Amino acid sequence: MESCCRCCMPCLHRLWDRLWPDARRRSDTHDNHVIANPAAEAAEIRTVSGDIRVPSPKKRPVQLYAALFDFEARSDEELTVKEGDKLSVIEKRGDYVLAKKLTGSLESGLVPANYVALLQDEFAKHKWYYGNINRVKAEKLLLASQNNDGSFLVRISESHSDEYTISTRGEGKVYHFRIQRSSIGAYFVSDKLSFATLGELISYYQRNPRILGVLLKEPCAQQRELFDMEPWERPREEFQLHKKLGEGHFGEVWEALWTAENRKVAIKMLKQEDTKQDEFVKEVQALKSLHHPKLIQLLAMCSRGEPVYIVTELMCKGSLKSYLTGAEGQVLTSAHLIYMGSQIAEGMAYLEDRSIVHRDLAARNILVGDDLVCKVADFGLARIIKDSVYTASRNTKIPVRWTAPEAAIHQRFSVKSDVWSFGVLLYEMMSRGKMPYEGKSNKEVMDLLTSGFRLPCPPRCPPNIYHIMMGCWAAEPIKRPSFHALHSQLDSIYARIYFKTIEV
Ligand code: ATP
Repeated sequence: MESCCRCCMPCLHRLWDRLWPDARRRSDTHDNHVIANPAAEAAEIRTVSGDIRVPSPKKRPVQLYAALFDFEARSDEELTVKEGDKLSVIEKRGDYVLAKKLTGSLESGLVPANYVALLQDEFAKHKWYYGNINRVKAEKLLLASQNNDGSFLVRISESHSDEYTISTRGEGKVYHFRIQRSSIGAYFVSDKLSFATLGELISYYQRNPRILGVLLKEPCAQQRELFDMEPWERPREEFQLHKKLGEGHFGEVWEALWTAENRKVAIKMLKQEDTKQDEFVKEVQALKSLHHPKLIQLLAMCSRGEPVYIVTELMCKGSLKSYLTGAEGQVLTSAHLIYMGSQIAEGMAYLEDRSIVHRDLAARNILVGDDLVCKVADFGLARIIKDSVYTASRNTKIPVRWTAPEAAIHQRFSVKSDVWSFGVLLYEMMSRGKMPYEGKSNKEVMDLLTSGFRLPCPPRCPPNIYHIMMGCWAAEPIKRPSFHALHSQLDSIYARIYFKTIEV
C-alpha cells in the first residue's frame, strides 16, 4: 500500500490522474523557472558632484512570498501567477499586493493579498499585522467607524524597515509606538522589556495595558469601503449576452462573452423593478473581498445604468442541485461526491477563518465546473460576524430545511449554523439531489428536529460520511466540527478510497 501524506493536494493530483487520465491539471503547466540572481537587485553606488560617492538609499530586505493558488490577471494592472511562484511584494494596496515575479519574466502587477503568503513571515497569521502600510493609512483605518478605542494594528516602520510600529486608537486619537530590535533580534518598546517574538510582545501589552497607557483590545477591522470599486467597473458594451442560464432571487443569470478579455463569463442582472438593491449591493460587497479558488470569483461590474450586472466566473455545469439530479450526477460514485464535498468544506473553511457566515449553504448555491470543481456561491445573505453569533432580524427569510434549529428559531447564525447546513448539503449530495425531509412541511421539519429526529442515512451513502453528517447536526452548536476539520476528514476518506485502504 502506498503511504499517504497529510497534505491532500499530491493525493488529489494522483487520484485525479487515475480517475481522469486525460484531464490536465493547471499546475502541471508550471515552468521550472530559475530564481533570479538577487545580486542583480543589489544597491548601486552612484557618483554625484565629481568623486563623492554616496550609497543609494537603504533597501528593504527582500521578503520572499509564494503564490498559494493560480491567479489569472483580469486587467493590465494585475499579474498572472501560478501556485508556488516566488514573488517579492513591493507594497500592499487595499486587498491587493503589488508583487513582482522573482522567476522567469520578472513582471510585476497586482495579486489578491490572500493569494500570497510570506514564506518566512511568522506574523502573517496575526489579524493585527498589516505589514507595509504607512502612518496616514493606519490612522485612516483606525479612525473609521468600524473601529473603536482599543483597535490596533502593527505595521512595518516607515523609517526603519526591520522595525515595526504599533498604531492604536484611544480616546478617538491614534497613538504610535515604535518597536525596536536589539542587536540579537529581540523586540522591545521599552528596552527594559524585550521579547523573542512580536506575538509575545503584543500579547504582553494586551495583558498589561497600563504600561503603554493604551488598550490593545481588538485588531483593526478591515474597511471594505476603502477598497476601491472602480477597478471592477467595466463598460457594458464589453459583454455580449449569449444564453440565459437561470433565474434567481435578483433576476436573470446569463452566459456571456467578455469581448475585451475573450473569455466566457456569467452575468447576474438586477431586475429593473426590483426593490432588493440593498441585498444585491451586499452580495457584491461580500464577493469583492473574497478570493479563494473554492469561492465564486467576482470579475467585473457594470453599475452605471440599468440593469446592473455582476460578472463572475462561469461554471459550465451550473448549480450542484441541478447537476446532481441530471444524468451526470446520477452516475457519480461516492468517491466523486466526497471529493466535491471536500472542496466545499475547503471554501467554507476560508469563510470560517474570516468569521463570515454564509447563511444559505445548500446544493442550489454551489456551482460546478469542469472536472467536478465546486465553488461556493450566492453571498446575498453572507455576513461578517463580530461575536461569533449573528442575530438576524425576525423577518429574514430562512431556508428552514438547511438551517440549524438555533438559527431557525432564535435567528442565531454562526459558523456552526453553516456547519449544520453543510451536513444537509452532504445529505443532498449523497442522495444525488433528493429534497431533505421530502413530503414534510417546514413546521413539521422544525418539530421533528426539536424532538431529536435527524435525516436518515441515504441509500449507498458510506457509514463514515453519514457519521460526519450526524456530527454536523449536533444539537449544541459547539459540538459540531469546524470546516477545517470537515475538510481534512473528507480529504483523508477520499485518500483512503483512492489507495483502496477502504471500500465504498
Ligand atoms: P437565489 O439567488 O434566489 O438564492 P439561485 O441561487 O437559484 O437563487 P442565482 O444565483 O441568481 O439564483 O442563479 C440562478 C441560476 O443561474 C443558478 O441556479 C445556476 O444554474 C445559474 N448560475 C448562476 N451563477 C452561475 C455561474 N457563475 N455560472 C454558471 N451558472 C450560474
